[in-house]
Amino acid sequence: MSLLRTLSCMLSGGDNATGGQAQGLVLQPAWDYLRQNHHDLLSSPLFPVVLSVTTYFLLVGVYTLLDLLAPTWPCISRYRLRPEGAVTWPNIWTTLGVTVRNHLLYIFPATVAQWLWRPPTPLPVEAPTLWSFFLGVLGCTVVFDFQYYLWHLLHHRVPWLYRTFHAVHHQYNQPFSLVTQYLSGWELFNVGFWATVDPVLLRCHCLTTWGFMVFNIYISTEDHCGYDFPWATHKLVPLGLWGGAPMHDAHHQRPGTNFAPFFSHWDRLGGTHSAPTACGR
Ligand SMILES: [Zn+2]
Ligand SMILES: [Zn+2]
Repeated sequence: MSLLRTLSCMLSGGDNATGGQAQGLVLQPAWDYLRQNHHDLLSSPLFPVVLSVTTYFLLVGVYTLLDLLAPTWPCISRYRLRPEGAVTWPNIWTTLGVTVRNHLLYIFPATVAQWLWRPPTPLPVEAPTLWSFFLGVLGCTVVFDFQYYLWHLLHHRVPWLYRTFHAVHHQYNQPFSLVTQYLSGWELFNVGFWATVDPVLLRCHCLTTWGFMVFNIYISTEDHCGYDFPWATHKLVPLGLWGGAPMHDAHHQRPGTNFAPFFSHWDRLGGTHSAPTACGR
């Protein structure tokens, strides 16, 4: 069996080893419950979009509440990467306006198209093993990180591409969570396309696909949140492999560096790595 076939088999939950069956039991009860009680919702072509949009606005809502409380709550402001730069209501309205416009212009029509033409998602009887779930989420994150790194590098190096498609995202050099989707339609299309296609390419179980979508939105908003909390992903991943919010903050300060959104290896290999300046990591 080829390496690719083995990997696909593992990601799709088809691991028939004894250990794999034991791991499958971990997610199987929850998967059985979801399939039996929410089958129509989960199999709807609209579900991935609803899940993504809901996750995004919930996370951004929490971070924005923290932004508004931070000026008077030292227990929050002590974690801000740049405590001197408060997030103002005009900041919130401007970024929220572009976010809502993008949802109405691009995400809503794409959702309607999926609802009309995409068949319902088949829900397999078997849950993915715990191993295939985490390996699938990690694999999709690694692939997405590389795709965005290349896109991002290109759109900074070619002046016309930067001016036309990416400059809008750099209007804020001190990111806050709503800057995550303060994007041109072209950039939003690309990130949405990769987030949708990567789990298909890696033949992930649909539960793994949804897990990746939620995780991808979590780490994207964390990149822009402007906080360096003790539970931040870059503090959980060893050896400085994860850039996270401090490194992406450095990209908004010094736009010729730190092009990868999550991991740090591509920028280290490409000579574009830049240490963060806004925290004591
Ligand atoms: Zn950014
Ligand atoms: Zn950039």
